[in-house]
Amino acid sequence: PADRSTAGRYRTQHEQGRFGQPGIQKVGVLGGGQLGKMLALDAARMGVNLSVLDPAQPACPAAVAAPQVVGSFQDPAAIRRFAAGLDILTVEIEHIDAEALEEVASHLTVEPEPATLRIIQDKLKQKEHFTAHDIAVAPFVGIASEADAQAAAARFGYPFMLKACRMAYDGRGNAAVNRPEDLSEAVTSLGGYGAGLYAEQWVPFDKELAVMVVRSRSGRVRAFPVVQTLHRDSILWVTEAPANVPPTQLAQAEDLAARTVSCLQGAGVFGVEMFALPDKGLMVNEVAPRPHNSGHYTIEACASSQFEQHLRAVLDWPLASTDLVVGASIMLNILGSGEGEEGLAAAHDLISRAYQTPGASVHWAPEAAAAGIARAEQGGAAPLSSPAAAGFSRSGAQPQVGIIM
Ligand code: ATP
Ligand code: MG
Ligand code: MG
Repeated sequence: PADRSTAGRYRTQHEQGRFGQPGIQKVGVLGGGQLGKMLALDAARMGVNLSVLDPAQPACPAAVAAPQVVGSFQDPAAIRRFAAGLDILTVEIEHIDAEALEEVASHLTVEPEPATLRIIQDKLKQKEHFTAHDIAVAPFVGIASEADAQAAAARFGYPFMLKACRMAYDGRGNAAVNRPEDLSEAVTSLGGYGAGLYAEQWVPFDKELAVMVVRSRSGRVRAFPVVQTLHRDSILWVTEAPANVPPTQLAQAEDLAARTVSCLQGAGVFGVEMFALPDKGLMVNEVAPRPHNSGHYTIEACASSQFEQHLRAVLDWPLASTDLVVGASIMLNILGSGEGEEGLAAAHDLISRAYQTPGASVHWAPEAAAAGIARAEQGGAAPLSSPAAAGFSRSGAQPQVGIIM
């Protein structure tokens, strides 16, 4: 289309009558990990023609429900080839080659906008973007040398959080610096000063909240209930829905999530993570421009899942209700070593206990770590080739069990 603005593109496509034909539009997803699998399962149910691009062999997790094209979502040539047969391209991971997406966006629909992925895949850029749009975040500063780190320590005091700008997820990419002596190990664990680091003031939060917001291509917006998340070692452990916070704070969280997503372009689901401060104020921690693990509870607990909504949003189908359909729900994320017969037996013991609990549902993701390793190897970015990540790779498969009740 001549008008390359978001609105112009949508208008042109609407005029061409290309929307609302289930099964006819071909949707491709960059990434076929655990989130891609859940997206593929819903797509299969919904009659959406979906395929995924993922390097994992012999098969990525999503391959149980969608055709997999083997290739890296960080390889421009693989993205170009994958995009050639599609109408709509979306992502289940933000660590993709944004330049290739910008290129293919001239001849197919890419959601969310590549520019949004470019901002979010770099946590420092993300923080700068939100600051420029008056969204409160913890004070932060880019770090490129020991002198920068010392200056950050003097400014923020201890503890402070050191973070990798890129390739960060599930706490890999974060290192708390509790004392001056911890600094050099923290820097090394994140790949060194050259890897792209920044420092963040420690947030003495009361609670962490998250809101999944969905926006369709024609700009309709809905939000799932505000949830409370609990992390262990920077990894999501429990999600409680709805969040047990006063109504005024719920309203503030909804408002902050809506304002945050409104300064990012494109359609799909966005996970907005925030800190609730002791003075009841709120700060944004980070945004995921895709379905997010704090939204898994929506599969059983809401009228529609975050995955169904993501597909509806990128196809520009009407959005469904996001209401909670149970009184309350928790998601418990269990990570296991899963190695050998013993590890598997332990996982299956947990699963059988979960099935004895009325109302509990199990989501089993034995391939999660395998996909993570494949990504680490082909990604090649410093944080993932750090000693911590190498240890993770060596540990082999780490079955993940999610229990939603
Ligand atoms: P995700 O898996 O959600 O993508 P991530 O690896 O990108 O996570 P963050 O969201 O930056 O990591 O941080 C993970 C967790 O670490 C947060 O949810 C919070 O519990 C803690 N955390 C992060 N930044 C800070 C901070 N500045 N002060 C205190 N705790 C923090
Ligand atoms: Mg993150
Ligand atoms: Mg996070």
